[in-house]
Amino acid sequence: MGLLIVQKYGGSSVADAERIKNVARRVAESARLGHRVVVVVSAMGKTTDGLLALAAAITSTPDPREMDMILSTGEQVTIGLLAMALQSLGHPACSFTGSQIGMVTDAGHTRARIKRITAERIHAALDAGRVAVIAGFQGTTEGGDITTLGRGGSDLTGVALAAALKADVCEIFTDVDGVYTADPNVVPDARKLPRVSYDEMLEMAALGARVLQARSVEFAKKYNVPVHVRSTFKPDPGTLVTREDHSMEDVVVTGITHDRGQAKVSILRVPDRPGIASRVFGALGAQNIVVDMIVQNISRDGLTDISFTLPRADRTRAETVLTGLAREIGAEGVAADDRVAKVSVVGVGMRSHAGVAARMFETLSAEGINIQMISTSEIAVSCVIEDKYTELAVRALHDVFALGAERGV
Ligand code: ADP
Ligand code: ASP
Ligand code: MG
Repeated sequence: MGLLIVQKYGGSSVADAERIKNVARRVAESARLGHRVVVVVSAMGKTTDGLLALAAAITSTPDPREMDMILSTGEQVTIGLLAMALQSLGHPACSFTGSQIGMVTDAGHTRARIKRITAERIHAALDAGRVAVIAGFQGTTEGGDITTLGRGGSDLTGVALAAALKADVCEIFTDVDGVYTADPNVVPDARKLPRVSYDEMLEMAALGARVLQARSVEFAKKYNVPVHVRSTFKPDPGTLVTREDHSMEDVVVTGITHDRGQAKVSILRVPDRPGIASRVFGALGAQNIVVDMIVQNISRDGLTDISFTLPRADRTRAETVLTGLAREIGAEGVAADDRVAKVSVVGVGMRSHAGVAARMFETLSAEGINIQMISTSEIAVSCVIEDKYTELAVRALHDVFALGAERGV
């Protein structure tokens, strides 16, 4: 008896008709080996970005329900095309949307959370010897409204389906052949990691390593789904994301990540008294804006500056909310800066090794890079710096922590 495999193919893997045919050949190969295959696909190429741009040309405050109506169309094109491509190879296949497989989510449009998956039609298709081709990134509310699962959400569809179907593995096929010590498109001598723990992967994903969506890693950890990140274009094995074992702790630093998707917002010369922070962050929370790093300066003359980072996409909304609030609480004003990036050093070994933060600051300083904000977790240290120094910072840190191909392992 073969395995039950969930394979997810990302946007660049299905960017045009030729690539979709290539994916069909890979899927058919797995099916011919006797495995039952469920395929999850993303929208073709940069389709989702294009749909977002279209909506932005209509309004700067799109209704999230309508946004999901638009965004979900991208994946629907790919599933039809891939099912046709498989059929053309003589392999029975059938495509399904999120709602057709019972991917039920809450009503948090554009970042919905999965409540349950019935997957009846997937089982029926597999039992009939067909490949089930599923639209990633989308679900449905109890009431039948279309939802989406946040950017990169097809990864979550893949992992959640693997958990629901009790699949043997979830294979994430992408344009790189695994998880690297840093983005291989930024650091030429980055090294492929054969294995990485769920916790490290979660931290790397949350801190900007796009290769897996952070929520999908959270899900994989919770349901213990083995995830194999590998190349669509090469047969080589990739990176296994799995439970931590003792050998992993010997490595202090696993990788360097960067995130250019954030903005820094400051409220200037705020009266330094109890209740102000709660009003500021309460107002942002009420708008569903998730704040990341927060820094409050030492107060002078009873006034202080509060700075924080948030997703760049939420910057305009945050400025609107805070400009009104600044007047109410007697602050001088609000300043926002998009030209920032967050660079981070990640590794589970940091739990038991000191000195990583100091080395990171030293390295940035030696390159003449000013640190605007700092935050730490048990297994990561992050700094916000000026955007234009991102590559320099990532490469310098990759070097200092000896993660490169020649010196590693
Ligand atoms: P897909 O369309 O297949 O979902 P993504 O663009 O979302 O692909 O993710 C793959 C990209 O993630 C790679 O092209 C690479 O530039 C980027 N990336 C960032 N950090 C890493 C890392 N540590 N290892 C591998 N890839 C990374
Ligand atoms: N198409 C969606 C996106 O671009 C989902 C995905 O590709 O994972 O975010
Ligand atoms: Mg992706």
